[in-house]
Amino acid sequence: MTFHVLTIFPQFFEGPFEHGVVKRARDAGLVEIRIHNLRQWTSDRHQTVDDRPFGGGEGMVLKAEPIFRAVESIWPENVGQALSPANPHRIILLSAQGRLFQQDVANRLAAAGGELLLICGRYEGVDERVAEHLADEEISIGNYVLSGGELAAAVVMDAVARLVPGVLGNESSAAFESFQDSGHSEGLLDCPHWTRPADFRGWQVPDVLLNGNHQEIRRFRRQRALEKTARLRPDLAARQGKIEV
Ligand code: SAM
Repeated sequence: MTFHVLTIFPQFFEGPFEHGVVKRARDAGLVEIRIHNLRQWTSDRHQTVDDRPFGGGEGMVLKAEPIFRAVESIWPENVGQALSPANPHRIILLSAQGRLFQQDVANRLAAAGGELLLICGRYEGVDERVAEHLADEEISIGNYVLSGGELAAAVVMDAVARLVPGVLGNESSAAFESFQDSGHSEGLLDCPHWTRPADFRGWQVPDVLLNGNHQEIRRFRRQRALEKTARLRPDLAARQGKIEV
């Protein structure tokens, strides 16, 4: 799967994907990340990417033209084409006003494969014509405002990349994580985990995990996942019909 990122701060991405799972996926050729500097598609001497908002007000707005030109140059064959399985290119605008990015969105994007182009906003945001006439979807990573779309793009790429087939060592391991409807987490939180030593400063690992009885261990883990979800994320537990609120 290929990720393209359109940003005015390409250096931002030197680092986040040089470690762990995503680095290994890149080295194995399963994931490719291409960072594009938006200023490359400006046409004036100062490489201007922003301008004042119509109607007045604070701050600057990223202009539509360099963004359209960038996408038309990165995917010349794709312009004006409808999305389809044969044309799995998606353009995502990172925006505090977008639909909430959750595990089901990550699953969908990873399953579609192909190429994803992430547009990072800055300042007061991006000329609305990008959302209306260029982006396939507008995505927010949470109900808070960041200074730019770069962190949000990194979050989306990490969450999607680890779901690309072959990226996680054990194919099924993503199925057992928090929020996944498949596997044993049933859309709840993952169960808690412990590792050696069994006694750390007097805090003991639950006995059941040490007795080798896999059926009991499964039952215990499910129970603890349910308890933790009900305590910390009652919204999830209620949605899955596990508790009433
Ligand atoms: N004026 C905008 C608003 O109030 O909705 C905020 C603009 S923000 C300072 C600049 C850029 O950061 C946005 O264009 C977007 O790309 C990114 N951004 C901010 N919060 C985000 C979020 N929660 N999710 C995704 N991107 C976000």
